[in-house]
Amino acid sequence: MAQKYVYFFGPSGTEGDASMKNALGGKGANLAEMARLGLPVPAGFTVSTEYCTVYLDEGRKFTDLLKREVAEAMAKVEAAMGMKYGDPVNPLLVSCRSGARRSMPGMMETVLNVGLCSATIPGLIRKTNNPRFVYDAYRRLIMMYADVVMEKAEDLEPSQGKGIRKILDEMLDEYKRRKGCKSDTDLTADDLKSLAEEFKKTIKRILKKDFPDDPWEQAWGGIGAVFKSWNGRRAVSYRRIEGIPDEWGTAVNVQAMVFGNMGDHSATGVAFSRNPATGENKFYGEWLVNAQGEDVVAGIRTPNPLNEATKNEQNKHLGSLEQQMPVLYKQLDAIRSKLEQHYQDMQDIEFTIQEGKLYMLQCRNGKRTGTAALNMAMDMLQEKLIDQPTAVMRVEPAQLDELLHPIVDPNEEKKHTPITRGLPAGPGGAVGKIVFTSADAVDWTGKGKKVILVREETNPEDVEGMRAAKGILTARGGMTSHAALVARGWGKCCIVGAGELRIDLAKKVLTVGGKAYQEGNVLTLNGTRGLVYAGAVKMMDASENPRLAEFMKIVDKHRKLGVRTNADTPADARVARNFGAEGIGLFRTEHMFYGEGSDEPLFVLRKMILSSTEEERRRAVDELYPFVKRDIKGTLEAMDGLPVTIRLLDPPLHEFVPQNEDAQAELAQALSITVADIKRRGEQLHETNPMMGHRGVRLGITYPEVTEMQVRAILQSAAELTKEGKHPHPEIMVPVTCDVGELDVTRVIVDRVHAEVKAATGVDVQFLYGTMIEIPRACLLADKMAKTSQFFSFGTNDLTQMGFGFSRDDIAGFLPDYLSKNILKADPFQTIDQEGIGQLIEMAVQKGRQARPDLKIGICGEQGGDPASVEFCYKSGLNYVSCSPFRVPIARLAAAQATLKGKK
Ligand code: PEP
Ligand code: MG
Repeated sequence: MAQKYVYFFGPSGTEGDASMKNALGGKGANLAEMARLGLPVPAGFTVSTEYCTVYLDEGRKFTDLLKREVAEAMAKVEAAMGMKYGDPVNPLLVSCRSGARRSMPGMMETVLNVGLCSATIPGLIRKTNNPRFVYDAYRRLIMMYADVVMEKAEDLEPSQGKGIRKILDEMLDEYKRRKGCKSDTDLTADDLKSLAEEFKKTIKRILKKDFPDDPWEQAWGGIGAVFKSWNGRRAVSYRRIEGIPDEWGTAVNVQAMVFGNMGDHSATGVAFSRNPATGENKFYGEWLVNAQGEDVVAGIRTPNPLNEATKNEQNKHLGSLEQQMPVLYKQLDAIRSKLEQHYQDMQDIEFTIQEGKLYMLQCRNGKRTGTAALNMAMDMLQEKLIDQPTAVMRVEPAQLDELLHPIVDPNEEKKHTPITRGLPAGPGGAVGKIVFTSADAVDWTGKGKKVILVREETNPEDVEGMRAAKGILTARGGMTSHAALVARGWGKCCIVGAGELRIDLAKKVLTVGGKAYQEGNVLTLNGTRGLVYAGAVKMMDASENPRLAEFMKIVDKHRKLGVRTNADTPADARVARNFGAEGIGLFRTEHMFYGEGSDEPLFVLRKMILSSTEEERRRAVDELYPFVKRDIKGTLEAMDGLPVTIRLLDPPLHEFVPQNEDAQAELAQALSITVADIKRRGEQLHETNPMMGHRGVRLGITYPEVTEMQVRAILQSAAELTKEGKHPHPEIMVPVTCDVGELDVTRVIVDRVHAEVKAATGVDVQFLYGTMIEIPRACLLADKMAKTSQFFSFGTNDLTQMGFGFSRDDIAGFLPDYLSKNILKADPFQTIDQEGIGQLIEMAVQKGRQARPDLKIGICGEQGGDPASVEFCYKSGLNYVSCSPFRVPIARLAAAQATLKGKK
């Protein structure tokens, strides 16, 4: 059978369903599902995502097969709606909308009112007896079509200056001014008719083409433009950020038009079955009377609240649907319950009321903040709508980040008066400098500045700037505007619809309450409450949330992979333990020589590094011992009862050589040598490529006394703690190894010191001896390494560096090009390159366990806290991941989700 590309949906004979998201896109699959549920969905058909690839790859032409399938499906739509496409008496109009597998709100194109032309206009006027409505629909079609089909899809969008849409918008504004009209609704049928004619002339003049007057030419133009919008600039950058593969493609939904702009008994709206910002179980949404869907999401008019219970500061004076159209509200509310029960998740709904009749245009699982995700998961669990595994899957690991993130300190906030307020579209707090363009947001952030992106309206074109900014503030737009959805999806602090703001983009100045704020001035946003403050208000960490604790308990029940932390001080260890760390996977000993309180040990370390004889070095090492022991003992104590992997020194030696004259002089005196000697010894330590130089185990091979001192500090600490009634579990880890010989040589020292500590203290310290696996050769020879090593810990920072040959410190210079040219899908230092480095890991696991079946294996590179990498580690058979303290909850959730996905 030939491949099928077109799927009909309607009151009977629906061909798709919710399970077909890959082919029909989310929107198409859910339209089909709603039609199957018997909900009032205007009939239509979906051209599949597979055809998008065919169309884009093969010359952007429609095949005869597709044309036949579309004609057949259109005939079914006509039958279902009792109208005919292109018919002069009873014309059917359609919309062409995009819909990818995963929702990409506002990133692709839509054309409405397709099929209006000189042949069908008179018929529609007769039928509706409403010429104003018909010409309004016509001028909207022309505006959208010129923009989407004739300009953007033809790659004619001017990079600078005005696109056709803006030109037509200005003509509309100018016309209204001339006529003294305040709003679009004041324009008469004749006004709109002559405006449409002016539009067409302008289009011809600028785009050098006629606006098509043939309904089928319009339809094919619309379908093609939606497909092409998959490769539009906005869609491509959104995909990069969200990690959506380019090859997925979008579907096109062609659906009978219903009109929310046919008068005061018509309306359109967007709703969520629960509050997407807080998770509160209240029907929540916005609507506009006598409007088309784009009016609600474009943020041109402040929308009305859906019901009485969810009115807010901005819309409390506006009538609710519940109050103004109570019967329809009830019907909609019943649909809300039906959809939630059916999908067992919060739904994002689009509806239109045409002359008193309700139609459903879309439903999908709604985007939500981290707070809302957590609250909904726990509520739905309590309501028995979902089970525990489903609840665990409902919160994305990255969303936890947001729950652990800073908010404006409520006590400090009380002392400040907001300069204005808007809608609380994205939670948490943000402090930053004002920028007015997306490009500046990206640029300033790249230079390490924190910025608040201030925009007139919520515009999906700004997606990159929104991503870069700490917070987003707009003058227009509602809670369901595209930008609000996007920001919320990212858990970004965002305030929209702050209507008192006056923004002068040209001068880069923002005025509110009679005061001007320039680019670079600081603002604070409270995205949870919608409040804006001048200057910086103090922030605080979100307090320990009991619901989160409850949720994490459930998470741990479903988790198999262990989660440890990378911690270098007793204080970090305590923080991580509170976050649920089950031990330390990496204690970097050299970190005690950085930062606060490090002066003394650093001085002694320098002495050790710059010693030139063994005797000198031994003296320095002995001096260093108490410092090393203090930190190790403190950390073992903080992690009492849990394993602590202590890595032997892996210092980039030259970094510790003092550069300033005073420090050099002090050191020279301590070593009884001259400053010139210090400089000379320092130069001897200089390496061309320190990352591949005298580091890690190599240092201990050259200077065994350094290894000996550290091992003694570890075992002596453990012996003392044991005597104090504690339960230390040290694991000695050797870094940067490439051969089992290195491990064997080091092990001799460890055994000797162990025997000495035992003789001196009477305690036979139990410990594990293992290695980091961070050099490709170690992976290749993992079976040999495992003969001496009782555990492996993948150092994926170095393994990625050495596997790719990319310097971990210099990758920023070329990574952006690798990403934009699609050579790499992601930064391999953030998420494990499963295709390449992943093979090294899998090989090492397999070979290692072959030699030692009970080999304990973990990961301690930065990727250990990245959800996709956590899943990979679980699948590869690792015992644990280790990550920084704040990422421990994220890793726990990702680990539980990996287990649950594995069970499916
Ligand atoms: C690693 O290489 O992944 C690692 C954890 O060690 P470091 O980052 O200290 O080199
Ligand atoms: Mg390393």
